[in-house]
Amino acid sequence: MAKLELSGIKKSFGATEVLKGIDLTVEDGEFVAFVGPSGCGKSTLLRLICGLDEITAGQMAIEGEIVNDVPPAKRGIAMVFQSYALYPHMSVADNMGYALRLAGTSKDEINKRVEKAAKVLRIENYLDRKPRQLSGGQRQRVAIGRAIVREPRIFLFDEPLSNLDASLRVEMRIEIARMKERLGTTMVYVTHDQIEAMTLADKIVVLNGGRVEQVGSPLDLYNTPQNRFVAGFIGSPK
Ligand code: ADP
Ligand code: MG
Repeated sequence: MAKLELSGIKKSFGATEVLKGIDLTVEDGEFVAFVGPSGCGKSTLLRLICGLDEITAGQMAIEGEIVNDVPPAKRGIAMVFQSYALYPHMSVADNMGYALRLAGTSKDEINKRVEKAAKVLRIENYLDRKPRQLSGGQRQRVAIGRAIVREPRIFLFDEPLSNLDASLRVEMRIEIARMKERLGTTMVYVTHDQIEAMTLADKIVVLNGGRVEQVGSPLDLYNTPQNRFVAGFIGSPK
């Protein structure tokens, strides 16, 4: 069964149709990257998937269940944004476990999940520190850790690395690749960085003006872009 299935998804704001019928299947454990120019609807699509915004038309299913009317908290989805804020007065461990504590998860279970996530992200030796005692990359990993401890069915990332300087971006790309390998959770990742998409994704979805131009593996898109737009965007010679 598909992890996520989008059928004819449309979204309008007032009279403006931003998404014009998106069909897409994401398999269990797949890492899917959405790429496309600014304003093409990438963030809008992620907001629909996690339930922060209402679908205008079409149907969305997670693990076979239609979720159009399911509230965000019940979808089992965690989102990592490009800007994040850690609580400065809380330790790394408390930052990571905070949402679980609010949800009434037991202390033992919180500790277990925080330690597991910290290992994946290689911050297990920093759990007692405060955010100000961490490097930028470590802080970014804590922010991702907050999503991991929720053990979501799907991770959504909206350009998580776009505010970082070049060397930190490389460091975090490696961390995300590790996370993909260690966790095996389905991930939907928005980026306008072709290198991120080409190196991280199993499948790339090229969006343009609210439509899907092409879906394929990085190699497919590079070798056989269906049109000039895809070729231009992916950087292949066609
Ligand atoms: P991307 O993430 O690909 O850069 P967005 O999904 O943020 O693009 O935006 C797609 C289009 O939808 C843009 O033209 C944007 O102005 C418009 N849009 C997004 N959110 C809203 C909103 N809440 N109200 C009106 N227009 C919006
Ligand atoms: Mg966006």
